[in-house]
Amino acid sequence: MGLKEKFKQFIDKSLYYPKWTCNVCGEEIFSDDYFCPNCKSQLSFISGPICDHCGRITLVPENYCHTCKGRLVSTEKARSVFDYKPPISSLIKGFKYDNKRYLLEFFAKELSFLYFKYFYDCEVITFVPMTLKSEKEREYNQSRLLAERLSEIVKTPCLALFEKVKETQRQATLNREERLKNLKGAFRLISRKQVKEKRILIVDDVSTTGTTAEILAQILNKAKAKSVCLLTLASVSTLNLENL
Ligand SMILES: [Zn+2]
Ligand SMILES: [Zn+2]
Repeated sequence: MGLKEKFKQFIDKSLYYPKWTCNVCGEEIFSDDYFCPNCKSQLSFISGPICDHCGRITLVPENYCHTCKGRLVSTEKARSVFDYKPPISSLIKGFKYDNKRYLLEFFAKELSFLYFKYFYDCEVITFVPMTLKSEKEREYNQSRLLAERLSEIVKTPCLALFEKVKETQRQATLNREERLKNLKGAFRLISRKQVKEKRILIVDDVSTTGTTAEILAQILNKAKAKSVCLLTLASVSTLNLENL
């Protein structure tokens, strides 16, 4: 690749694109928004009954749904902005894998609404780390971007509490037990001092089975955190988690 192309790619990648078209249908828009009114009305914001513990959509309000009962025991409470389904799922994939970093502002703002509602007394925000190798390949860690931007908006410090010391398989194809095994020993706490007696909020993009958060929360609880909560952009509904 010539220098000129490299430069062009750099500009393309680092530019926060202006919001001239709808991020879902591509239609031209004439307001300061990311979506046209029609697509915006179809975004899967979680608003109906949820499980109070894991924050996922349920048929009726529940304290502990069947997917988190006895399993997600290390987090005190979890909330997500969206139910993980199209078009939100493709927007998040674009943000995560396809360098659509201009969606950060929209996502972080939505996270901040839930932060002020449920997690306003948290003292430290943290994120799910990637191995140095993966982060170098992707050029950024989407979980870290979300946590850092949220931290700026809500004025609560964001600390890198963990490092990922083992490369793991992508979780998507694994069931819950395989996920736990896959993640065992993958994360290391950087400093116990920053955790002790603190209310900690883990920020991530998607919660599928919640295994990653569970593993991190176990480590934080062992280091005597006061509480550990989880805030994600999207979670998979309990209705779609039957087989996991
Ligand atoms: Zn649209
Ligand atoms: Zn639940």
